[in-house]
Amino acid sequence: MALEMSTEQREIVGMVRDFVEREIIPVAHQLEHDDVYPDDIVRQMKELGFFGFAIPEQYGGSGLDYTTYAMVCEEIARGWMSITGIINTHFIVSFLIENFGTDEQRQRFLPKMATGEYHGGFSMSEPNCGSDVQAIQTRAIRDDGEYVINGTKMWATNGEHSTVVATLVKTDPDAQPSYRGMSCILAEKQYPGFVSTRKIDKLGYKGVETTELVFENNRQPAANLLGGAEGQGFKQMMAAIEVGRVNVAARGVGVAQRAFELSIEYAQQRHAFGVPIGQHQAIQFKLADMATKIEAARLLTNYAARKKDAGERADIECGMAKLFATETCFEVVAEALRVHGGYGFSKEFQVERLYRDAPMLVIGEGTNEIQRLIIAKGLLERYRIKG
Ligand SMILES: Cc1cc2nc3c(=O)[nH]c(=O)nc-3n(C[C@H](O)[C@H](O)[C@H](O)COP(=O)(O)OP(=O)(O)OC[C@H]3O[C@@H](n4cnc5c(N)ncnc54)[C@H](O)[C@@H]3O)c2cc1C
Repeated sequence: MALEMSTEQREIVGMVRDFVEREIIPVAHQLEHDDVYPDDIVRQMKELGFFGFAIPEQYGGSGLDYTTYAMVCEEIARGWMSITGIINTHFIVSFLIENFGTDEQRQRFLPKMATGEYHGGFSMSEPNCGSDVQAIQTRAIRDDGEYVINGTKMWATNGEHSTVVATLVKTDPDAQPSYRGMSCILAEKQYPGFVSTRKIDKLGYKGVETTELVFENNRQPAANLLGGAEGQGFKQMMAAIEVGRVNVAARGVGVAQRAFELSIEYAQQRHAFGVPIGQHQAIQFKLADMATKIEAARLLTNYAARKKDAGERADIECGMAKLFATETCFEVVAEALRVHGGYGFSKEFQVERLYRDAPMLVIGEGTNEIQRLIIAKGLLERYRIKG
């Protein structure tokens, strides 16, 4: 691996890798096929502090930087991508609260999130809009010390298991441009009228649930408005999904890495025409392309994470990392399936699962078409001709 790691990073990544090898890889395939939530893995992850990885130490977490967190995500995704789904929406919510929350919100939520007592979910998408975030319809109306929320959200990962869901709503539907009328509410399930209804039956990314969320005259305390000021939700959410994109990129690297490892092993075991298939140049070219692209994706992901850690503007780099790493993953899993021949099509072989998991990555956290728009917009700004 081309990444340089500090001693601390090596220790954390090594610990996570051991856990993945021991507790996740042996059971992932069956749990995914049965679409069963990995309760036992999640319990152990809580005990080992995984839920607090990205939460500052003063709130009981480990305070990992984005770069180390991305390395951890890669390792977990290498074992089973769905597990990264469980901690990534949690990470996005803790990011939002840490960076935009009031002191009271940080004190109230972060310690419980660090232990995993609270699970975070985040919800922007609705049945009629995903990319076009400003078209959301969910409405929150202030009524004394509460917000009354009505609307339907869609595609909420961890929709059932989350305790607190950072939810994008419209507090001023007449605002122009409409993003100025959007706010983020830390919606808690304990308040009646907020339920996870339908669990979506998916192609892959099973085990972790993705659901519809319905708000019906749900009353949340006004103290749950993120940061305490209306009209900030769009900007807050966009900042959060920018770091989320680095995590999705890291997931792409992890899934692709696993597909490559399975392929290079199989290429040395499977014989055709009297030699291991890894001796045929056609297979060697596939392995070479896979490994080269994975390494490039890993470096790009690491570069974007380091820029975020340095506090620099990184919209282009995060977009590039997400775009390249997830497209690479999409290509690599398809090539891995071919290397496995007919067995790649069998549910008994793990590449079949990786092949079904990868498409989610080109869609989630902003589709790759949207990434290209973000990258191009940033580049035109960066390279603007003066005069
Ligand atoms: C498994 C899974 C989990 C998810 N988890 C969450 C979650 O936890 N929280 C959450 O809020 N959302 C979640 N999502 C939703 C996800 O973010 C959206 O699916 C995604 O943003 C795309 O939105 P859409 O599905 O409405 O597609 P649309 O926006 O309808 O897009 C359809 C197609 O049109 C393209 N398109 C749209 N606009 C443009 C444009 N301007 N230029 C070029 N092409 C365009 C898109 O790229 C896409 O190819 C999840 C989705 C999946 C599949």
